[in-house]
Amino acid sequence: MQVTEIYKSLQGESTRAGLSCVFVRLTGCNLRCFWCDSEYTFTGGRRMTAEEMLDEVARLSPKGGLVEITGGEPMLQERELLPFMKRLLDEGYRVLIETSGERPLARVPQGVVKIVDVKCPNSGEPDTFDLTNLDALLPHDEVKFVISDRDDYEFARNFLVRHHLAERVHAVLFSPAFRKDASGARDARQCLLDPQQLAEWMLADDVPARLGLQIHKFIWDPALKGV
Ligand code: SF4
Repeated sequence: MQVTEIYKSLQGESTRAGLSCVFVRLTGCNLRCFWCDSEYTFTGGRRMTAEEMLDEVARLSPKGGLVEITGGEPMLQERELLPFMKRLLDEGYRVLIETSGERPLARVPQGVVKIVDVKCPNSGEPDTFDLTNLDALLPHDEVKFVISDRDDYEFARNFLVRHHLAERVHAVLFSPAFRKDASGARDARQCLLDPQQLAEWMLADDVPARLGLQIHKFIWDPALKGV
């Protein structure tokens, strides 16, 4: 697989936020979200065999634990990724995959928790989520919306209701978009949408979703990679 980096940090998002996690960040993405903080994954990286990747995961987390497959868009390397995730599960790791849901997800191994980032209108990549993937969602999966303004919020709220997401998956996450060029200050002023504003909208509408903050950007400099 083409790999940008493998590193250990605290999980910054999802319901596992705050837990120690090994991140396997694959190279390449077919989308171009305007607030993307991972553009360095679009090209480059290095070719690694599944064996080499497993060795690196085991070196970083020898006692098992949480592994997140992310990118870029990891499902672009589906042919090699699916057996790799199965190997991780067989080795006793708990495996998450972060994906946009633009590629088919039905063949992701059942034990893998899918965190599906449905793109909102102002991401620059609206309508990229493949609606047939709704049928591939399992009760342990999570669906995330990165929200940069009121239009995005209304899209996420309406999508959640229309597709009964709260009944389909373990958690629905509404996360304020971060400034792409954020660096230095580790606080909410770096968000494109004030988390307080998003929280107030969610409370007013009684939305069955949880507010998610990218906590790694409040712990380390938001410009820092590999954390
Ligand atoms: S899908 Fe993810 S990696 Fe790709 S452009 Fe969007 S935010 Fe960046």
